[in-house]
Amino acid sequence: MNLILLGPPGAGKGTQAAKIIENYNIPHISTGDIFRENIKEGTDLGKKAKEYMDKGELVPDSLVIEIALDRLEKDDCKEGFLLDGFPRTVEQAEALDKFLEGRGGKVDHVLDIDVPKEELMVRILGRRVCKQCGATYNIPNMPPKKDGICDVCGGPLMQRADDTRETVENRIEVYNSQTKPLLAYYDKAGNIAHLDGTTGLENVFNAIVGILG
Ligand code: AMP
Repeated sequence: MNLILLGPPGAGKGTQAAKIIENYNIPHISTGDIFRENIKEGTDLGKKAKEYMDKGELVPDSLVIEIALDRLEKDDCKEGFLLDGFPRTVEQAEALDKFLEGRGGKVDHVLDIDVPKEELMVRILGRRVCKQCGATYNIPNMPPKKDGICDVCGGPLMQRADDTRETVENRIEVYNSQTKPLLAYYDKAGNIAHLDGTTGLENVFNAIVGILG
């Protein structure tokens, strides 16, 4: 099963991804996570990506496409995958389709999670991520049991470097101008489901299970 999670920053893609991979046993591929790991390790790729990420801009297509397709070549993607944060432009979506066609595959489902802008701001500014295991929390809606400590592994919680008010405004604008056209692209392909991301974590997940079966 080849899946894509679409939606603006803060829509809950990462949270739903964690639940989907647990149920469907496919790898979770987040291009944002790949860039963050490279930044942490100080690689050339990380240095290049950071310039764009810090401003809330998209990393150039040529760079992202190479990274994403390289990852999809790995053995663990043979039975399917869940893409989170890729594709983000029509050019990326076309490159992905071409890659899958070349292997006799296709995108099976695109899950589009929508949330209004005001709610996105509240969610992103309240987002905390475990430095150790990557589990995500939300101060107003889904806080950890102990302040600043991860429920899962006991690691310290932190804010993502690009979760500042200014960067978030830009990321939402970039989503509207560059990623939203993908909705029409997949509407045309007929494989997209639109989900209301304000109905609560469990309801959104149940809707996803209803679609995937
Ligand atoms: P995310 O963790 O998905 O919110 O991504 C964080 C940042 O990484 C984005 O704001 C972009 O700067 C960059 N990024 C991640 N995925 C992509 C992509 N598919 N295309 C371009 N930039 C990306």
